[in-house]
Amino acid sequence: MKFQLTGKYGELAEIRNNVPHHGIDLAMPQGTDLHSVMSGTVEQIVDYGTKNLGKGVFVRNDDGTLSIYGHLSQIKVKMHEHLYAGETIGLSGNTGNSTGPHLHYGMKDVAGHWVDPTPIAEKVSNMQGDWWHHPGQFLLDKWNQLGDKVIGKENEIMFHPLLDMLRDGLIWLGHTLTDLMPEIGCAITIAAGIAIMFTGNFPKYVTRWGFGMMGVISWIILGK
Ligand SMILES: [Zn+2]
Repeated sequence: MKFQLTGKYGELAEIRNNVPHHGIDLAMPQGTDLHSVMSGTVEQIVDYGTKNLGKGVFVRNDDGTLSIYGHLSQIKVKMHEHLYAGETIGLSGNTGNSTGPHLHYGMKDVAGHWVDPTPIAEKVSNMQGDWWHHPGQFLLDKWNQLGDKVIGKENEIMFHPLLDMLRDGLIWLGHTLTDLMPEIGCAITIAAGIAIMFTGNFPKYVTRWGFGMMGVISWIILGK
């Protein structure tokens, strides 16, 4: 879990007038990138001001369930926009009835009943944050944005088989990269070591690769 679970499902709290909590709360800094947990279509965008969810996005997932993202500071999607899992929804915040910056994530089943998202809390948590935490999702997000720009949302259906194929490829690449990140880091470090050993220009390379490696290692450590 990347972000701390500060509000459990079904919990009673004075701030919600002792109405059971229809979701989970994840504490995160104001302005954290929020990503769609599942693929779906934007069904509702709300702004309750200082009440309830504040700024919120409702996504009808492709499997018929509903995902609700609340207390956002900024919304980056439009009504009826289709989102792939990992696409940017907006930035987290502290809007609505909230005592600190956090993401409220709620879920409804196909029949419209509240369900407990705790089993997927880990996934919800891990998908949020800066792009280097999930390079695969970042690639996908960029790919989708590029696709929207180049062929337009309205033509997407025509190119669907081709887009899906490329997208599957990107998902695979993304997951492989994410899974292998420490291994890739090690491989680069070893390669750098060999390069240093076999070069006649030792000090210059040590400096150059040294800084490079520090960058890679901190990227891996910070990215986890
Ligand atoms: Zn909540």
